[in-house]
Amino acid sequence: MVFKDVHGHDHIFERLLRAKTRGMFPHAILFAGPKGVGKSLAARRLIQTMSCKAAEDKPCLACYPCRSIENGICPDLRILGKLEGKSQLTIDVIDEAIRFLSLKPSELGCKYLILEDAELMNVESANKLLKTLEEPLGHAALFLIRGSRKPSIATIESRCQKFVFAPLDDESLMLLLADLDLDDRQKAFIRAHGGGSPGYARKLIEEDVFHYAEKFLEAIFASREKNPYVLADAIMEFVSTGKSDETMIAKRPRLVRLLSILASVLMDAVKLAEGAIPSELTNAYLEKEMLVYAANSDRGKLLRNVEATLSAIKDIERNLHPTIVLENLFQTIWTRGWTA
Ligand SMILES: [Zn+2]
Repeated sequence: MVFKDVHGHDHIFERLLRAKTRGMFPHAILFAGPKGVGKSLAARRLIQTMSCKAAEDKPCLACYPCRSIENGICPDLRILGKLEGKSQLTIDVIDEAIRFLSLKPSELGCKYLILEDAELMNVESANKLLKTLEEPLGHAALFLIRGSRKPSIATIESRCQKFVFAPLDDESLMLLLADLDLDDRQKAFIRAHGGGSPGYARKLIEEDVFHYAEKFLEAIFASREKNPYVLADAIMEFVSTGKSDETMIAKRPRLVRLLSILASVLMDAVKLAEGAIPSELTNAYLEKEMLVYAANSDRGKLLRNVEATLSAIKDIERNLHPTIVLENLFQTIWTRGWTA
């Protein structure tokens, strides 16, 4: 393992560190892969390794450069990304990035910029950054970090050396989450929905998505109809983090996360009804509940529930009123076909 807290991507670090030793470190690097898999942290660890004063076991995280990078006070490293409340990576961020890259390095001998959320660059931002990448960057290196989503920045990507971060296997994922002290059910949930990404898995636990998904599924699996309005309200309470000024931009991803989990469970129920074995399911840990649920409904109804959930996700993404979308969804799930 090259870095203690970044697992599963050693081949990437080894290649880049070899390039550094040969004086051929790329000026523009793209780290692509699922959100929360450690791309930005990896960039930071690489910069620390290249700047570390220790004789061996770099990065030591104890010498001056290691610490100043870790504490976010190093004048030669900036980490920029989408501004709070914005849905795109806007031109003012790119202007700031370009200004930073043009400065002279003071401590590390190089200016390092980590630009997160690169997939959210709009055309204006992308064109501006592209102009910078067309000139030699001199004493500067840029790490572009982007999620798995199809990029709108192909022209920029073609100027970068690209490295793809794969999702982590179960073992590495659990190792990185050891501090969360998860019980067996939470672990099963993370395996099913964490997407091999420690950052995302952490979010699911820390934002209490696990807890709400359990409540949500309990209501879906319940043998008696629930009041759709009460459940919709409970879910909306969950997606609001309590900040009064919070916009729907912040709430929507939480709601979509929760509904995606529901869709995957309902899809598994269809597969079970079609004779699938547990190892073929995403949510094998819910097998018992899903069997009862599937046995009480016909296949057509099960499929309609999956479709209704997927279209609810689309409606939320299209900005329809979330409470109304949820009420309609719950009504569809409960009022047609539940026979127990
Ligand atoms: Zn060090």
